[in-house]
Amino acid sequence: MKIAVIENEKIVLKNAPDITLGGRKGAVVKVLGCGLCGSDIVKFREKISPDGTVLGHEIVAEIVEIDSETSFKKGDKIITSHHIPCGECHYCKSGNVSMCKHFKSTNIRPGGFSELVYVSDEHLSNVAYLIPENLTEVEASFYEPLGCCVRAVKRARLMENSSVLVVGLGSIGILMAQALRAFGMNVIGCDLIDERVELLKSFGINAINVKDLDDSFEKTDAVFMTSGADKALDTALKAVRNGGTILVFSSTPLNSGYPNNEIYYRELTILGSYSPSPVDLKDSLELLKIGRVKVKGISTPYRFDDIQKAFDDTISNRIMKAYVEVNK
Ligand SMILES: [Zn+2]
Ligand SMILES: [Zn+2]
Repeated sequence: MKIAVIENEKIVLKNAPDITLGGRKGAVVKVLGCGLCGSDIVKFREKISPDGTVLGHEIVAEIVEIDSETSFKKGDKIITSHHIPCGECHYCKSGNVSMCKHFKSTNIRPGGFSELVYVSDEHLSNVAYLIPENLTEVEASFYEPLGCCVRAVKRARLMENSSVLVVGLGSIGILMAQALRAFGMNVIGCDLIDERVELLKSFGINAINVKDLDDSFEKTDAVFMTSGADKALDTALKAVRNGGTILVFSSTPLNSGYPNNEIYYRELTILGSYSPSPVDLKDSLELLKIGRVKVKGISTPYRFDDIQKAFDDTISNRIMKAYVEVNK
């Protein structure tokens, strides 16, 4: 099978022995496609993942071999996420499922940018679903990233009709704005790139260019930070009302912080949200299925052979998000 690995700051295609179940429970799946996540870009660009790593986790796949207690069978087309919480530890019981040790240790192997992937029985029982008939493979690939957004919206515990500014309208910002709307929030998005502002508007959500975010802008109850720029922190502090919430949903290169005194005097809540729980994922799939969140026009397809270009084009902002057609 072909796999894409990090090697000398490049993404290189290699041959590897085919994966088989070899007596394990679970399934071997043929990856039809895999979304390129912002976290993959960070791991690649910031050299966080070592050479030999197979990135990718937003997979749409077909089961080719299976031994499972679940009702999935050979030939089923599925989506799955990559981490599963134990449900028993202190983190899980406190609602911080994405900090659970088991959550962090579980994964699909070797990674989504591989022609074949091993999916454990635990994945099949907890976070895998058949692709709904009314969704295309590309649409279904948003199951996991949208799950992350659903979690963020829930964690912010906002009152219905709260005003929320989404800073950064990359693919996650576009999903986040729609997830917020689905949960009854009054949403506006902002970005530096006009095309992205227009894309959010095309989904029926108000959006403006950051440069138009002047003193006349009415401060919002919450700001959701999906931008990976350090400067965006200033935008968030300027836009949030006193007593409001800033939800952090992105790493920033300089890792600069929010100012202590401003948090104190303005009684701000700053909170993070990371990876989704099985329930968040279930909710995400429902939102996609009923069309409450639309994803048309977000992804650009790439052949597996062009995976380096998929990374390059995402990094240079030529595209919003890549969908790599691993087996096509
Ligand atoms: Zn992701
Ligand atoms: Zn746990």
